Amino acid sequence: MKYGIVLDSLFARHNIPAGHPEGPQRIEAILQAVQRWNPSGQLVRVAPLPAQEEWILAVHTREHWQRIQGTSGQAVSQLDPDTYTSPDSFETATLAAGSAVALTDELLQGKIDSGFALIRPPGHHAESNRVMGFCLFNNVAVAADWAIRNSAIEKVAIVDFDVHHGNGTQEIFYARSDVLYLSTHQYPFYPGTGHFNQLGQGQGEGFTVNFPLRAGAGNSFYRHLFSDLVLPIVRQFDPQLILVSAGYDAHKNDPLAGMNLDVEGFGQLVTLLNSLAQEVCEGRILFVLEGGYNLKALSEAVVCTMETSMAPKTFPIGKKEHTEEYLSYREQARRVFSTYWDL
Ligand SMILES: [Zn+2]
Repeated sequence: MKYGIVLDSLFARHNIPAGHPEGPQRIEAILQAVQRWNPSGQLVRVAPLPAQEEWILAVHTREHWQRIQGTSGQAVSQLDPDTYTSPDSFETATLAAGSAVALTDELLQGKIDSGFALIRPPGHHAESNRVMGFCLFNNVAVAADWAIRNSAIEKVAIVDFDVHHGNGTQEIFYARSDVLYLSTHQYPFYPGTGHFNQLGQGQGEGFTVNFPLRAGAGNSFYRHLFSDLVLPIVRQFDPQLILVSAGYDAHKNDPLAGMNLDVEGFGQLVTLLNSLAQEVCEGRILFVLEGGYNLKALSEAVVCTMETSMAPKTFPIGKKEHTEEYLSYREQARRVFSTYWDL
């Protein structure tokens, strides 16, 4: 197993006001955790790569690109209520998006079997023409679109388990049928989007799949949801590549959200997604970091994701039985999606 990672202290250079949860400390914590874990030379280091302008312009407007580029070398500026730039943010953001592409390229060339882009700033809230929610460029969207334009890949599934809805990824691919966007997220919650009834439009109708979840959902609920609904939908979509918007802010100790997953819960989801990738697309799956703001939970869950990917393991399963609440949620979701998917 050749497992590729992009992980570099360069991603700490996007340095927004002290105390902001999406700060350089996130990358530093992951660097330290990976160093402690030290999987003796089994990781293939993929060098960070700045995105070419055209890769970003394939999913963002020129106006958006210029707005971020204009902050290069400038003092800290606030672009939306929680999104800031520092002098190095433009360079770091282009490096994040480019690194997601670099890892995708390594995968498609067969140089790695799977991998993780441990990058920041995160991307899934960034819309085609709007920065939002700590995100400047939409890294996972840039990589998905790049794969379709530059390889034999025709269909990409993006599975987003960050606790927040990826409004940006949804908006970018809303009218497209070649990218499935599927998200599980706390709802109602920031950013407010991600209801069941946002299903895509035009040719893209049915290819946006949202699972809005009440606060408090934990390992058992998520695991059943993935087994019963998430995996069957992705299986039927039959992608040649799976990209995972891997945010770890659904962890029970995350300071920003109210979900109840623990590290083993994330491990279970990773196991399910990896086996799905083996089944549908010869194991082609890449994880791209989004949120996760409890540094201990974030770094442990990231290491668990990599360990589980490199040597599949089974996790002790908590509650096996379906709760009434889960069963009624599953019924509701089946009613919504059965127009498009055989569930
Ligand atoms: Zn998030």
